[in-house]
Amino acid sequence: MISGNCLCGEVVYQLNSDINTIVFCHCSRCRKQTGTAFNSSAIIKKKDFTFIKGETNVKIYAKDGVNRHFCSNCGSHIFSVRDNDRNTYRLRIGLINEPIMTENRIHIYTDSKANWDNICDGYTQYPDSINPSDLTSNNS
Ligand SMILES: [Zn+2]
Ligand SMILES: [Zn+2]
Repeated sequence: MISGNCLCGEVVYQLNSDINTIVFCHCSRCRKQTGTAFNSSAIIKKKDFTFIKGETNVKIYAKDGVNRHFCSNCGSHIFSVRDNDRNTYRLRIGLINEPIMTENRIHIYTDSKANWDNICDGYTQYPDSINPSDLTSNNS
């Protein structure tokens, strides 16, 4: 079982699937949201995600069909979900407490990364988006 909590601890969740692939998104929206070079996420299914506590503290910033869920107390980003695919969550994996045992990692939107963001690993880079259905865990 995988668990995650926000910075202040008000929001706690459980994930009932494995994480198949880690996605590093370098797009400008993710930079603004995270305040740093890129966003680290995993594509998961809604049915595998359960709030243990704090769901009432979660606020949503909705824009352009993307709903970004965050803790209203401390600001930690929890996941995003798109209007056109309500059953897929992009889980912000920095909140996860356990080691994540996958070597599958990719970079996306590398064409729009910040000029000061240097990608120094050998994982595959995609210039823009990918199809999320390629990256969901097969175990869920
Ligand atoms: Zn919090
Ligand atoms: Zn992004």
